[in-house]
Amino acid sequence: MESTAPLTLFNSLTRRAEPFVPVHPGEARVYTCGPTVYNYPHIGNMRAYVFADVLGRTLSFKGYKLTHAINITDVGHLTNDSDDGEDKMERMAAAQKQSIWDIAEHYKQAYWADVRALNIRQPAQWTVATDYVPQMIEFARGIAAQHCYKLESGLYFDVSTVADYGRLARAQTEDGEGRIEAVEGKRNAADFAIWRKTPPGEARQMEWDSPWGKGAPGWHLECSVMSGAVLGFPFDIHTGGIDHREIHHPNEIAQNQAHCCTNGLDDAANSGAKVWMHNNFLVERSGKMSKSSGEFLRLQLLIDKGYHPLAYRLLCLQAHYRSELEFSWEGLGAALTRLKRMLIAVGRLSQPSTRKQRSEPTELAANKKWFDAAVSNDLNTPEALTALEEVLAGLQPNDVKLTVVEEYDSVLGLDLLNLTRADLRLRPKSAEITEAEIEATLAARKEARAAKDFARSDALRDGLAAKGVEVMDGDPLGWEWKLG
Ligand code: AMP
Ligand code: ZN
Repeated sequence: MESTAPLTLFNSLTRRAEPFVPVHPGEARVYTCGPTVYNYPHIGNMRAYVFADVLGRTLSFKGYKLTHAINITDVGHLTNDSDDGEDKMERMAAAQKQSIWDIAEHYKQAYWADVRALNIRQPAQWTVATDYVPQMIEFARGIAAQHCYKLESGLYFDVSTVADYGRLARAQTEDGEGRIEAVEGKRNAADFAIWRKTPPGEARQMEWDSPWGKGAPGWHLECSVMSGAVLGFPFDIHTGGIDHREIHHPNEIAQNQAHCCTNGLDDAANSGAKVWMHNNFLVERSGKMSKSSGEFLRLQLLIDKGYHPLAYRLLCLQAHYRSELEFSWEGLGAALTRLKRMLIAVGRLSQPSTRKQRSEPTELAANKKWFDAAVSNDLNTPEALTALEEVLAGLQPNDVKLTVVEEYDSVLGLDLLNLTRADLRLRPKSAEITEAEIEATLAARKEARAAKDFARSDALRDGLAAKGVEVMDGDPLGWEWKLG
């Protein structure tokens, strides 16, 4: 499909939607801040990767050769932003009495399972922080003399040495509100650790030798080093959740400026990436999104309750990525029903066209233009979904519709051509009856009704109801039963 609408993306650096102009013609290089693998991701975290996936898919749809890298943070991310917290990985390893490497492996696999379940495409590269420590030390060595200073606890970046620090956050450089100067001796409140020295008398599970003593890299350093190493500075787009716009990304930018300047690669304003994009948060009123609150909202919890993970993906696509999205079970249920309707319509497309259907090339061209304009307009997925549904409801012949659905779904990623209605009907973990038992009882009930034995038919229905299965006679979606 020809995609001609100009692609515009909202750049957090300028707070404006800008035409996308790739650094390397015909290519798009994207870096996404990935998970810290000390715990399961919650569904809010996964919204960030659905967004990055839609961005990548859109760039491919627009004809760019995409190189996407997502990092896995397995060292360096502290429990707070003031550099005096504990390493999240070290803390979890101690709590679970396991090695950090085992913790990292377990939660990385759990994260990848969610990635697959949400039909997020595999990036060209997963960059794992501990694989890049020598490069991090090299990077730090390159900027240390001009931009850093040593304290007892490690090497710190002096934010006053780069132009326009904090432009991304629109924060004040000096005494910025919300900045905590937890580490004594910092020159500016916003200064941050590049290298965290292991305190005397302590041993960390993960530590490396460096010119600043045995220790571990700072979290911000990781992303600067890995994005530059894999994509080359400057690259096109850097993504993350909106919380990263305040501290993590301004610090990455400061390091990139220092690095590019020291090495004479570019001017002082070089921020590493040309476009910085941030998804807004998924919020939930009762605080179940917080990983510290016991049972929190994981994708697996949704699945256990009988919601297909792609219903969650659709829930994300129904909101613009820059809008806050409130999670509710009702909202998720509505998304599941919407997905069900789409699949019913797609399921019909393998049948021969009816006589009423006819090819309307102008109408089809207008719809394609609409879809293209929507996704090209800073990834307006809510509107793109409406364009898709218009095609499904329209009169174009089935084979034509099928081709269009395939093209649109290459951006939306709802797996519409492979998923079936039956796949959506997940049995909640707590259900007392298997699908096979339900189907067998329903078949027996059909026979009873055919034989006009209504007493038996009612008894079978009541038996199902007692096990939480509601029989849905005459359901407009063609659903025969649901678990209450
Ligand atoms: P973390 O594993 O904590 O580093 O977070 C992984 C990603 O999820 C980051 O890009 C965060 O900005 C993003 N994130 C965290 N909480 C939410 C949320 N509630 N909604 C959307 N994105 C989030
Ligand atoms: Zn990052």
